[in-house]
Amino acid sequence: MGDRVILHIDCNSFYASVEQVFRPELAEVPMAVCGDPEGRHGIILAKNEKAKAYGIATAETIWQAKRKCPELVLVPPRMDEYRRFSRRINAIYADYTDMVEPFSLDESWLDVTGSQQLFGDGKTIADTIRRRVREEIGVTVSVGVSFNKVFAKLGSDYKKPDATTVFLREDVPQKVWPLPVTSLLFVGRSAAATLEKSHIYTIGDLARADRELLVRLLGKLGDTLCDYARGLDDSPVAKLGDSREIKSVGNGMTFRRDLASEEDIRLGLHVLCDSVAHRLRRSGLRGWTVQVTIKDTNLKSITRQTTLPRATDLSSEMLEAAMALTLANRPAAIRMLTVTVSGLTDDTTGEQTSLFAEEQLPDLDNRRRLEHTLDRLRDRYGWSSVRPGATLQNNLGIDESAPRGADDET
Ligand SMILES: [Mg+2]
Repeated sequence: MGDRVILHIDCNSFYASVEQVFRPELAEVPMAVCGDPEGRHGIILAKNEKAKAYGIATAETIWQAKRKCPELVLVPPRMDEYRRFSRRINAIYADYTDMVEPFSLDESWLDVTGSQQLFGDGKTIADTIRRRVREEIGVTVSVGVSFNKVFAKLGSDYKKPDATTVFLREDVPQKVWPLPVTSLLFVGRSAAATLEKSHIYTIGDLARADRELLVRLLGKLGDTLCDYARGLDDSPVAKLGDSREIKSVGNGMTFRRDLASEEDIRLGLHVLCDSVAHRLRRSGLRGWTVQVTIKDTNLKSITRQTTLPRATDLSSEMLEAAMALTLANRPAAIRMLTVTVSGLTDDTTGEQTSLFAEEQLPDLDNRRRLEHTLDRLRDRYGWSSVRPGATLQNNLGIDESAPRGADDET
């Protein structure tokens, strides 16, 4: 059987590009979309080409960016607008295949193996889509074409903006293996640091490394990365709309020591809610119901759930509900906690504002901005780049528990 043809499409400077569609004059000046433009601790979420020329980088603070470019124009993010653009862009992808899997608002994988007779080879389809998104939406995209999802993603990152990069199986040793391990999916800063200590710097080093060594160094992630580097990723591209089949999203954790204090419980729930919220946002879903399963030291478990006043994808809202449920049903000591959100909806237009007092809205908006900022940082630098400060000192075993993939989605 021949190789699959997988595309990974990444919108270039997505938030900034959308803002430029509405205000083309912004393309003429250095501009960045950032959380909390009023405060100097706000973070750069996206920047345009002119800002890039000043060396302005995603995730740096406004204060750092302004030092490089004092006349930088700052624009607050409009998530609902970005979601709307994201839907329109994915609808273009869907003209070429029904296997379209969004990875985030501005990135999707496409499996076009079966589309080539109709639309040409992978590179031709990539170039066609690139032109259409530019002309019909006003946003440029970079496309990676390869035989698996991981190398396709590498390709979309390889050359941008507005470019197509093809990595065929025979290109891997010359083109893929010299790339740094940090460019590989799921290699965050801490994993990279661990690998570096074993003199593994490139994807090629990783591919040649002993699998058992990698597992010893990084656990399950080591096994995964070994597959990735060797081009063995065979995960399928989901069909568009499959996310609607997801009934619930949950995550559970057995702690290194039992949770006794309220502070411990809050910390444990915080980490779980963070990962659940992140995955909901990535799937473009919100949920009405928060459920907590509490296992005590005798492994007896209780499950309790509550319905929220509105569907949410925010960790902070889940945490309040989960905390109340847990404290109301609290055993003397807790061994394990699971947080699950169900009653999922993909209707993220409108905030059902009628249920909420006006004065609560700015706060909600700020929370949403903050959590989206965290998503971007984590997508870029790995899950553990952002975590509650308290997890650094705790001995609960909360550490590199990155919520990867769709393990517990049911
Ligand atoms: Mg992008």
